[in-house]
Amino acid sequence: KGAISEKLAGQLEKGSWIRKLFDEGKRLIDIYGADEVYDFSLGNPIVEPPEAFLKALADTVNSGELGKHQYIPNQGLPPARQKVADYLNGRYGGSVKPEHIVMTVGAGGGLNVVLKSILNPGDEVILLTPYFVEYDYYADNHGGVAVHVPLADDFSVDTERVAGAITERTRAIIINTPGNPTGTLLTQDNLNELGKVLAEGEKKHGGLIYMVYDDPYSQLVYDAVPPNPFAAYGRTILVSSFSKDLGIAGERLGYVAVDASADDAQLLAQAFVFSNRTLGFVNAPVMMQRVITRMDTLAVEQQEYRKRRDLMVGVLQEAGYEFTVPQGGFFIFPKTPIADDVEFCLKAVQEHRLLIVPGSGFGRGGHFRLSYSVPIKQIERSGKVFKALLDSYR
Ligand code: PLP
Repeated sequence: KGAISEKLAGQLEKGSWIRKLFDEGKRLIDIYGADEVYDFSLGNPIVEPPEAFLKALADTVNSGELGKHQYIPNQGLPPARQKVADYLNGRYGGSVKPEHIVMTVGAGGGLNVVLKSILNPGDEVILLTPYFVEYDYYADNHGGVAVHVPLADDFSVDTERVAGAITERTRAIIINTPGNPTGTLLTQDNLNELGKVLAEGEKKHGGLIYMVYDDPYSQLVYDAVPPNPFAAYGRTILVSSFSKDLGIAGERLGYVAVDASADDAQLLAQAFVFSNRTLGFVNAPVMMQRVITRMDTLAVEQQEYRKRRDLMVGVLQEAGYEFTVPQGGFFIFPKTPIADDVEFCLKAVQEHRLLIVPGSGFGRGGHFRLSYSVPIKQIERSGKVFKALLDSYR
């Protein structure tokens, strides 16, 4: 037997080509300097947290309150949960109550809390591709089986395909909009239609199916109204975080919420609190809970990303790429001019020092993902390399 589990060894091996690409980028930066490398590969939120957050942070640090670094209830501080409830109800007009919210270690921690709480061994979790690949591992962590269903060409949910994938083992579907890697926003009609399909699936197979709504880009929405997941489907579990919304990804604060009108809201919340504890998170970062409690509002528009979106879209259109204009998040998912997206991305890095990620890493070949969470200057400088890369195929 090897030093690590066979499963982990397999998972490490599977992700090794992405690491090779990143290593190549690092090597180029060392040789040429960051200004001569066009790195669009990372998903790190670049925009600094808002002033209101920084002020609340300073006030929290400077408050003379004793015991503020101690353990807190596993569910999270009541006033922090109240803040999140107010935010969600303002946004979705629902009836989310603090007792049905659990503060988590980011959305990533929240998704694990949810899946641990609802999955029986062998239960199926529908994932819509292209997708955030961590979902596979999160489902597997808790005995779930990932079932991949492609999104339509315009990255809307193909509800007929979802209907066809539902079985008596289906327990959940994960929805992410604005999505990573596509940046597209689902419409309310599309989400309502999905809600109907899930309800029909429940009736047909006699089980409960949850819509796990992963919403960590909730404030990064441009020129559009985000859909309301609670209105689309009753058995919705919302998972989100402040990683992107407040630009504090490294601080690891997120939450899980169910609406008070949902069946079993109390039981679900109880299970989430237990999972938060027994997964070893114990409680979400307490300082950050205190900080958001001090903020007047958690609704902070992220205009800086909109600016970058507009610039990036201009650069790609000018160069001649084919893509769906994103309405949120900070990713774009254009088509590659050849079917082999890995070869295309290798050429990008080797010949143009341009770092982009093959779509096959997200479950859809023939595309690449770029993140425009980068300095504005880099977007402006990148026009000529994006064009030269595409032109080399003409
Ligand atoms: N879900 C999606 C779709 C993401 O893109 C990310 C981060 O990149 C996460 C969840 C996890 O975010 P966090 O755990 O920082 O809240």
